[in-house]
Amino acid sequence: MRRILFVFLDGIGLGPAGPKNPLSTDAGAAFRRLAGGAPWVQSLPERATSNHLVRPLDATLQMDGLPQSGTGQATLFTGVNCAERVGRHFGPYPHSATHDVLDHENLFHRVQALPSVPDGGVAFANAFPPRFFEAPSRRWTVTTRCCAGAGVSLRDLDALRARRAVAADLTAEGWRDGLQLDVSARTPADAAQTLFATHRDHVLTLFEFFQTDKVGHRRIDLAPGVLLERLDNFLGQLLDLLDPAQDTLVVTSDHGNLEDTSHTQHTRNPVPLLAYGWAASHLADARTLAGVTPGIVEALRTGRNDR
Ligand SMILES: [Zn+2]
Repeated sequence: MRRILFVFLDGIGLGPAGPKNPLSTDAGAAFRRLAGGAPWVQSLPERATSNHLVRPLDATLQMDGLPQSGTGQATLFTGVNCAERVGRHFGPYPHSATHDVLDHENLFHRVQALPSVPDGGVAFANAFPPRFFEAPSRRWTVTTRCCAGAGVSLRDLDALRARRAVAADLTAEGWRDGLQLDVSARTPADAAQTLFATHRDHVLTLFEFFQTDKVGHRRIDLAPGVLLERLDNFLGQLLDLLDPAQDTLVVTSDHGNLEDTSHTQHTRNPVPLLAYGWAASHLADARTLAGVTPGIVEALRTGRNDR
């Protein structure tokens, strides 16, 4: 069965090229490969072939103000305009007006309901630390709420150690230095190999990377160039492993942030939608965040690389 690997990058938009945009100054070879040879900036040329889609997505959801993760991600992972449902942008956690759609109609539910998808056919590859599971009242993010709603298990420390899960920072540095846990060091390319192995066993695998947004807010002490180099190594390894006849890598974001380092806020810039592999043409109708889930579901429903 053909598979989709969905890498969600928080807080990366397509902004004007220039010294304040690290995506134009520091993005490496894999970023360009994924985008048809161009850097991820406002002038990114669109592409829509049978196995490669490059497209800006509107992240404003027809609302004033700065897009936020709660409503942006809820829209991305349900196909429903959740900012419209709430009446404004909201985040970073999901608004109560969106709980129902997240709990009952998210991307995982919709893929699992397809007749061709076996039980356990979808996976969320991120690892969560012991304190997440031990917390008396958990603050659900959009993605963890999607998992809980659809019965997709969350991966833990044992899974991370056994390389059946990926640390949110790729290298597991935060697990060792921040959380003082005994986890071996790994490179971004190692993390990509682990993610790809999980992807090989599932119809749909999601991985969420949010350091891009944290660096944009300057909440972690990491230079944008260092972060983008790690991400480039990670994406490059995924592209090397990928067989476009069987696999599709989908990369997108919820709102802009990192592409404008002149401030620490989100932006209203469009976000990139990049799809490389057999399913790319099924995402060709997506113009906003709401178009991603329907495209993935339709691709996996047909399992074909034409429309
Ligand atoms: Zn943010």
